[in-house]
Amino acid sequence: MTIAKRLGLATIVLVALGVSSAYYVTVMALRARNDLPAGYTYVVLGLIAGATVLVMVMFWHGIGRAMRRIVDQLGTMTRSRQVGLVMAEGTEELQCVVRALNELLTTLNGEMDRLRADKRELEIQARIAAAEKHHVEAIIYSISDAVIVTNRFDELLLANEAAEKLLGFRAEAGLRKNIDGVISDGTLVRLIRETRSQGKGSHRKIVEHVLSHRGEPRTYNITLSCVVAPHGELSGVVAVLRDVTREKEIAQMKTDFVSNVSHELKTPLASIKAYVEMLVDGEAEDEQTRREFYDIIASEADRLNRLIQNMLNISRIEAGVMKANREPMGLTGPVKQVLDVAAPQAAAKNIKLVDRLSPVYYQVEADYDMIYQAVLNLVSNAIKYTPSGGTVTVTTGVDEARGVAVCEVADTGAGISAKDLAHVFDKFYRVRESSKSAQGTGLGLALVKQIIESVHDGNVSVVSEPGKGSKFSFELPILN
Ligand code: ADP
Repeated sequence: MTIAKRLGLATIVLVALGVSSAYYVTVMALRARNDLPAGYTYVVLGLIAGATVLVMVMFWHGIGRAMRRIVDQLGTMTRSRQVGLVMAEGTEELQCVVRALNELLTTLNGEMDRLRADKRELEIQARIAAAEKHHVEAIIYSISDAVIVTNRFDELLLANEAAEKLLGFRAEAGLRKNIDGVISDGTLVRLIRETRSQGKGSHRKIVEHVLSHRGEPRTYNITLSCVVAPHGELSGVVAVLRDVTREKEIAQMKTDFVSNVSHELKTPLASIKAYVEMLVDGEAEDEQTRREFYDIIASEADRLNRLIQNMLNISRIEAGVMKANREPMGLTGPVKQVLDVAAPQAAAKNIKLVDRLSPVYYQVEADYDMIYQAVLNLVSNAIKYTPSGGTVTVTTGVDEARGVAVCEVADTGAGISAKDLAHVFDKFYRVRESSKSAQGTGLGLALVKQIIESVHDGNVSVVSEPGKGSKFSFELPILN
């Protein structure tokens, strides 16, 4: 039984005892005087019992109403999820209970406020984390290198578009699946696994690996690093695949270039040195031999000069410091001059040099010396890469519909494969087979392209078929 109930009962008993005692004393006094009417005792007793029941009912009714108010207030708090204080009128005991309840509610309220603040903080942190995740993903998706991220169970977490294209899978379909079943390249799977198993202690490593991309073998630098969670545990592996095929080709080209240039420089230098020594030693006895020696020395010096000029011109045009002296001129002038200069070279190789120069008068705005250099490089190449007995045809003309003057240099030489054709205008590029048959530095066509396209806003192109010959042509806008 609760304290309130016990106190209530005690009050009722005391009231009943008090009234009974008063009644007893009154009855005894009246009895003593003998004037108490019959039945009166029962009526009074009945009234006392009724009064007692009435007091009890009123008492319990009062407590019940206060309790109901408390229950109502607690219900409102539960529904509104707001903890406040409980208000109830009633006995002192009830107030005690209400005070204790309010103390508990106040503590609860404080605790709820703290939890709400924690929740808000967590929500903000979650939003920041989601934004950062999006940001990082956007960066990863935008980079051209292939990126793959796995978790500590070797399951795919993220792969950008470049990785999808390179490795031929759909990241969405492979998400949360073991990389075994997603990535078909066994070496890459093994490398990711090894990095993960070596754990966070392992350093970032770069492995070179050849992968087939669109049917072509390409070299990739795979950078593998472990992802370590803030609490220090390994949470996965990031693999970044960078296509270094071109870089490797360029590095190889530079090596080839240095050896080619050294060779190109060494050959004329050795020849000059040898002839000078012979002259010094008096080995050229007659005037005619001495003249021949002088001519050879002069031509070797010219060759050296050409090589150095080519290199200098390319770097000057690239650096934008080459000043072009552009004036109205016809293409026929420099082309004729080239044909005259190249005639002995062609004759020495038994190559027929045919000219088909346009009689139509038209002008382009160009630097005479530069155009001469470009045509000379094309015609020299045609003679150089055409076997004895072949033909080199130089044509000039005009395409009025397109408003351009055209110069074509066609030969019946070795031709160029489609794979090499894409690179012949690159600096230092030499077709492997032809570099065996003729000396060169891979700079001639690069210079032609710079002169025609960068300096004169023209256009250079080539069509070629292995075994059937090549046709190099350039066009320049004509002056109206
Ligand atoms: P190089 O000094 O090697 O001749 P170029 O830049 O002039 O340098 O030419 C680049 C490469 O293109 C050459 O090494 C050669 O393999 C190829 N090439 C150029 N012209 C011709 C041609 N007319 N016929 C066949 N191959 C050519």
